[in-house]
Amino acid sequence: MAPSKHAQTLSLHAGYRCDPATGSVAVPINMTSAYQFQSTEHAAKLFTFEEQGNIYTRITNPTVEILEKRLAAIEGGSAALALASGQAAAFYAIQNVARAGDNFVSSTELYGGTYNMFKTILRAQGIEARFVDPSDPENFRRATDSKTRAYFAETLPNPKLNVFPIAEVAEIGKSFGLPLIVDNTAAPLLCRPFEHGAAVVLYSLTKWIAGHGNSLGGALIESGAFDWSAVPERLPAFNAPDPSYHDVVWSNFAKPFGPVAFTMKGRGSLMLNLGSCLSPFNAFLIMQGLETLALRMRAHSENASAVAAYLNEHPSVARVIHPSLATGAAKARATKYLKGGFGGLVGFELKGDALMGKKFIDALKLFYHVANIGDTRSLATHPASTTHSQLLPEEQIAAGVSPGYVRLSVGIEHIDDILSDLTQALQAAGA
Ligand code: PLP
Repeated sequence: MAPSKHAQTLSLHAGYRCDPATGSVAVPINMTSAYQFQSTEHAAKLFTFEEQGNIYTRITNPTVEILEKRLAAIEGGSAALALASGQAAAFYAIQNVARAGDNFVSSTELYGGTYNMFKTILRAQGIEARFVDPSDPENFRRATDSKTRAYFAETLPNPKLNVFPIAEVAEIGKSFGLPLIVDNTAAPLLCRPFEHGAAVVLYSLTKWIAGHGNSLGGALIESGAFDWSAVPERLPAFNAPDPSYHDVVWSNFAKPFGPVAFTMKGRGSLMLNLGSCLSPFNAFLIMQGLETLALRMRAHSENASAVAAYLNEHPSVARVIHPSLATGAAKARATKYLKGGFGGLVGFELKGDALMGKKFIDALKLFYHVANIGDTRSLATHPASTTHSQLLPEEQIAAGVSPGYVRLSVGIEHIDDILSDLTQALQAAGA
C-alpha cells in the first residue's frame, strides 16, 4: 500500500494487500493450530527466532498478525500483541514489567474489573498496585519508589470521564525510566497517547474497535520510542536473564528486530507460557469493525454530545458527565487530549432517590441494558449494581460510581430515536 499517515486509510489497508495464493482481498481466516515445518532445521531456527515464521497459533497466527500490524500502524507504534480480551491485556501489561516484590502506580479511575484484578489477583502474586488520584499528576511521583516498575491509567475513564493527564505523568515516568501504560479503550483515534509520551497503549478491542458487540479481544501496542534499557536497574524484567525463555535479556535480544522489546517479551514469555491468544475468527471480526472505526467514532461522539446537551437541560437530571460539558481544568485536558470528538460515553444522575436510575433503565426500549460499552447500538448500565459491584462502597465513590448513577454508551442510531427513547424512559421513571 502507498504510505499513509491517516488512521482512516490505515484501518483499511495497513499490513495486508491481498492473499498471495488466492488474491483474496478480504483477510483470510487462518483457522489452524499449527504450521508445517519445511525441515527439522527450519523448525529449530523458528524456535530460536533465527528465522521468523509461524509455529503454533498460541504464539502467532497470520490472521491475528495482520490485525496486530494494523493496530500498530494506526496507533503510530512499532508493534502490537493481540490477546483474547481487554482484561487479559491489562494482566499481561503488568506481568510483562513487574515480578513478585515489585509495585506499580495506577490511577484510581479505572474500569471496575481492572481495579479488582489489580487489587486482588496481582496482589496475591506479590505485585502491589499503588492507587493514586490522577487529578494531581505529582501523586504518581510521590508513590514511586525503587521497586516501582510502571504507571497505569485510562485515557477516558468511566464513570467520571475526566481525561487523564497523559503527557504530565509520562514526563514524570521518563525522569525515573518508567513506562506509562494507557488504556485507550474509550477513545480510539480521538486520543493518540504515543504523541503525549505513553510507552504502551492498551485496548479492549471488544468495545469501539470491534464495535459491533460480537467479539471479545484485547491488544497491547508499544510506541517504539520508550527505551526499556535506559535505566537497567529500574526494569529488571527487560535487563536481567529471563528463565522463561532461554535466559534471554529481552532488551538485548529484541534489538535486531527493532524497538519491540515489550511485544517480543509479551509474546515469547507470557503468551507462549500462559495462553490468552486471540482467536483468528475474532481477529477477522475485529478487523471488519476496524474498517469503519473513524466513521463510527465521529457518529458516536456527535450523538453522545447531543444526548449530553439534552440531559443537561432536563429538569429532573441532577448532573450530566460528558467531556463536552467539562469546565476548568477538566475542560482544558479534554480539549488537549481528545481531537475530533469527545467519545460515546455519557453519565448522569437523576434527582430523587437512587431507585430512579434503576426505574429509568427498566423503562428503556431502544437502549439495551447490558454490561458493555462501545457497541453500534445504544446501551445503558447501572454501574453500582453491575460493572463496579465488586468494589467496596467507598471504592465505588472514589471511582465516581454513586448509587443513582446511570451510564450510557450512545450508539449510532438516528439521534431523534435516541432522544425519544430517553424522553419516554424519563417519563416512565416519573422524572
Ligand atoms: N478496559 C476498559 C476501559 C473496559 O471498559 C473494559 C471492559 O469493560 C476492559 C478494559 C476489559 O475488556 P474485556 O471486556 O475485553 O476483557
